[in-house]
This record gives sequence, structure tokens and C-alpha cells, in this order.
Amino acid sequence: MSAPSPGQASRPGPTFPGPSARGRDGSEQTGPRLRVDWPACQAHGLCAELMPELIHVDEWGYPVVASGPVPEALVAQARRAVSSCPTLALRLQNSR
Ligand code: SF4
Repeated sequence: MSAPSPGQASRPGPTFPGPSARGRDGSEQTGPRLRVDWPACQAHGLCAELMPELIHVDEWGYPVVASGPVPEALVAQARRAVSSCPTLALRLQNSR
């Protein structure tokens, strides 16, 4: 792994367990994924309060989203977090 080049943003990855992109049998998991539009995000942290299972905030208040698809049991909660984002920066994208 190489160091980020000057001007390249470096964000730590999630430091909490999140759903894996692969199932127990090694097959790739599908389902919607949470994404952040970084220029739009203003670090309110509301999403992390509404979705602590998959989002926490870094030391600057920006969300750190677990990689992998949102588990089916949490999709409704994820939709609420998306609709509550005051800047429409949080999105739920369907994977292909
Ligand atoms: S609620 Fe929206 S603006 Fe606030 S931290 Fe989450 S993604 Fe960013």
C-alpha cells in the first residue's frame, strides 16, 4: 500500500465490524449500500445517531460507513437515515 499523494484525501476505513461484502460461503453479497456525497456532507453526524449499526463519525464528525451491503433487516432504518440527512449527502444505492 502506498502513501497518499499530496492533495489526496486520506480517510481511515471503518474501525467497527460491519457486514462483509461476502457471505459465509464466499459468495458476493448484494443489496443496497450506503454512500456519502462528500462535497455535500457537512458533518452533522445525524446519520450516525440514526444508524449506529453501520455508521459512526470520525474525529472531525464525518461519517464512516461500514463497507458492504446494508442487511435486509436494516434497510428501512437506512432509508430513514437517508431521508433525515439535512444536506441529502447520504444515499442508498442499489448494487448491480
Ligand atoms: S447526516 Fe448527512 S450531512 Fe450529516 S454527517 Fe451524515 S451524511 Fe453528512
